[in-house]
Amino acid sequence: MNRQSAALTRIPSVDEVLKTSVAGDLIARFGRQAVVGAVRATLDAMRTGMRAGDSVQSGLEDVAAAAGVRLERDVRPNVRPVFNLTGTVLHTNLGRAILAEAAVEAAAAAMRQALALEFDLETGKRGERDSLVRNLLCELTGAQDATIVNNNAAAVLLVLNTLSRDRDSVVSRGELIEIGGAFRMPDIMARAGARLVEIGTTNRTHMKDYEAAVRPDTGLVLKVHTSNYKIRGFTKEVPARELAALARGRGVPLVNDLGSGTLVDLSRYGLVHEPTVAEAVAEGADIVTFSGDKLLGGPQAGFIVGRKDLIAQINRNPLKRALRVDKVRLAAVEATLRLYRDPDRLQERLPTLRMLARPRADIVALAQRLLPAVNAAVGAGFAVSVVDCGSQIGSGALPEEQIESAGIACRPAGQGGSALIALAAALRALPVPVIGRIEDQALVLDLRCLEDETGFVGNLRALQTPGSR
Ligand SMILES: *Cc1c(COP(=O)(O)O)cnc(C)c1O
Repeated sequence: MNRQSAALTRIPSVDEVLKTSVAGDLIARFGRQAVVGAVRATLDAMRTGMRAGDSVQSGLEDVAAAAGVRLERDVRPNVRPVFNLTGTVLHTNLGRAILAEAAVEAAAAAMRQALALEFDLETGKRGERDSLVRNLLCELTGAQDATIVNNNAAAVLLVLNTLSRDRDSVVSRGELIEIGGAFRMPDIMARAGARLVEIGTTNRTHMKDYEAAVRPDTGLVLKVHTSNYKIRGFTKEVPARELAALARGRGVPLVNDLGSGTLVDLSRYGLVHEPTVAEAVAEGADIVTFSGDKLLGGPQAGFIVGRKDLIAQINRNPLKRALRVDKVRLAAVEATLRLYRDPDRLQERLPTLRMLARPRADIVALAQRLLPAVNAAVGAGFAVSVVDCGSQIGSGALPEEQIESAGIACRPAGQGGSALIALAAALRALPVPVIGRIEDQALVLDLRCLEDETGFVGNLRALQTPGSR
């Protein structure tokens, strides 16, 4: 027998490992089946290691402890909270809006109990789930009627399919948007069965282009808010109010896809004005579509508001059933919408608005308080300082607007690139991963979205970088 196979025969059996007290504790925590699996996997890894010539700890307690590490890793949920210090408040890859406490409570209650989802408590008869939020949506937007689906992409799809299947959808070439995640207006049109009629040019579309394209049998005229880009220079677009007059004259519905529609005038909170849903309705759009988890600050949802007869038609489309929202989100949507009834306290209660409107001085003070902790955690390999930076709204809203913010920059003392990448990776490996952004050869932690200061400092203690002790 050579040395390697001799070592392999010394590897303990699964049963031997399971008899140790460490394994006993693991079984109490994780259950026997999971522990058996983890011990097997550990022993397999040991055999592989030994064949490769590694020195391997094969004591019973070592194996049990290694299995424990595997189990710990395995129970960590895949859906994990992170600290979003990217400076993008509505970060699509980090889950967009953080919900208000009232919405969280309403969602939790909806999960725990039966509820009157499609049940009219007055008559005792079957009800409609949309009716739970219809009045609120109408009140906040001035629309006649409203309905709700899974997200705004679904809202656009459903509207196009209902009003424009096998018919023309007239849209300006300047508004044929692509937003992230393969949502391209021409593709959605095709899937909805609508015939795309593109008019005008990329930079200029005139009323005469619409007049030439819109006929009485046209399905709809579509106006799309170019949420994630701006066309500047020699440009022309037809305002929604004028389009509404034309569409009404020809008896064709005007649909306005606002994307990140807001329900309040953001300038009231010191932010740049973004078109509100009420404005779009007042301008004469027959249907307006917008997202729940962008500026509105609620859960993922798509809202369709507008003319009663059209909403009724949309609700009769069989696709509506496939795109409907579940009770948990409906509860969170209702609670979020209710907050808008008290605009004076909205900023305090709605995290999206609270973060967007957070004064720069607050963020600077926070950065100064956190500087020593960050400095200690990243170690001597980095120069750490408080810096000015620019946050963004995100999710395509006001793409060119930067909101003055502040953060902490970690600049590698020596050769930069690989140290920065290692630091970013170490921050992502924390119990609550910290996501910053690399900019100007520094890792910048924009603190606009950091509210749990104590949690952040505690979490940072676990940081392990090449430079830290
Ligand atoms: C974001 C956006 C959409 C899609 O909304 P989701 O809620 O992400 O599905 C559609 N149209 C416009 C103009 C948008 O900005």
